[in-house]
Amino acid sequence: MKVLVLNCGSSSIKYQFIDTELGIALAKGQVERIGMSSAVLTHKPMDREKISIVGEILDHTIAIEYVVAVLLSPNHGVIKDKSEIDAVGHRVVHGGEEFSGSVLITDEVMRVLRDNIELAPLHNPPNIKGIEAAKSHLPSTPQCGVFDTAFHAKMPEHAYLYGLPYELYKRYKLRRYGFHGTSHRFVAQRAAELLGRPYEELKIITCHLGNGASVAAINHGKSIDTSMGFTPLEGLLMGTRCGDLDPALITYVMGKEGLTLSEMNTLLNKHSGMIGLSGVSSDMREIEEAQEEGNKRAKIALKAYNYRIKKYIGSYIAALGGLDALVFTGGIGENSSFTRKEVCANMEYLGLELDEELNENVKGEVIISKADSKAKILRIPTNEELVIALDTEIIVKDRVSVLEN
Ligand code: ADP
Repeated sequence: MKVLVLNCGSSSIKYQFIDTELGIALAKGQVERIGMSSAVLTHKPMDREKISIVGEILDHTIAIEYVVAVLLSPNHGVIKDKSEIDAVGHRVVHGGEEFSGSVLITDEVMRVLRDNIELAPLHNPPNIKGIEAAKSHLPSTPQCGVFDTAFHAKMPEHAYLYGLPYELYKRYKLRRYGFHGTSHRFVAQRAAELLGRPYEELKIITCHLGNGASVAAINHGKSIDTSMGFTPLEGLLMGTRCGDLDPALITYVMGKEGLTLSEMNTLLNKHSGMIGLSGVSSDMREIEEAQEEGNKRAKIALKAYNYRIKKYIGSYIAALGGLDALVFTGGIGENSSFTRKEVCANMEYLGLELDEELNENVKGEVIISKADSKAKILRIPTNEELVIALDTEIIVKDRVSVLEN
């Protein structure tokens, strides 16, 4: 089956056109700066040169029209007719309590997604726009939603409940949902395959470290806890998000600075985390460069970033009652040897011993722990798009509405 996988952000759309039998992307690309006159579409067919087209792309509907057009293009395309797109798989951030697996998109699913906008204000609105835009260009093609929350949906009650009045959980579904589930699931399964051990028997901690970042504790193939919570704001320090805070700080800062709810929300989501602490950038490469140039705020921001990850790993080893594998993925987890080294420092007593030589300049899927490290440390590039395409294929072929993990 050939599946167009769409990951729609507020001003960008990443896409891959995946052949699920071959397990590869026939073409991939992205549209950036949507809403501007200088939007850029970058497209790379598997067997040909990458191209870039600059022009006005004012909304997601026009962006997806361009994506479909470039897939059909005689020079740069990979199909001759729209009907060769068998299905569209959408990454959807928040499925709420309603979805514990991937689904065929129906009017009812769209209603639930709109109801969940409050839970993921940065992410669900562009996801919805992307689905509507894809439907308008490919009206007879089945569309599926693959949720970041689904892999964590079966975590135990004691891990997902907050210490708030239980009635509030019942009334507003206030609980930990967790995100990046597609990535955590993929890299944990790949780790088991690389270690040549059954996934269902392993205790794995996965660190997805991108602009957004989360850690998950996976026991025998099930996510039992994860650092993101009710929204993708909780947990680790992220590019622009604060992660864990004393909740009392929120009303305190609002009072002191005279901020409205919406302004406070923006401060926590867009001006905090690594950009807020370092004052340099939300981009890890730039923060590491600033540290090398002697920037003190960059240095302390990086220390805080790595310390937070280390604390989560320690607590999840306790929650799992041991550890077989620690996996790093996401732009930072895959590429920053500095982050991996700092996070794994002094963890020998927990059975984690990083091989510092292997940790440098790694490519692809690799074990980077010392040969006698009790728990293995792995660097595994994530491939959320492939998981989305494969889930979409199962749903479309079987016409099952819910895929239990
Ligand atoms: P997103 O969450 O938007 O998908 P990514 O997973 O692509 O983000 O991760 C983006 C982050 O990865 C950025 O902070 C970027 O600086 C970081 N990154 C990419 N390459 C490197 C590198 N070589 N060293 C350190 N950080 C890197």
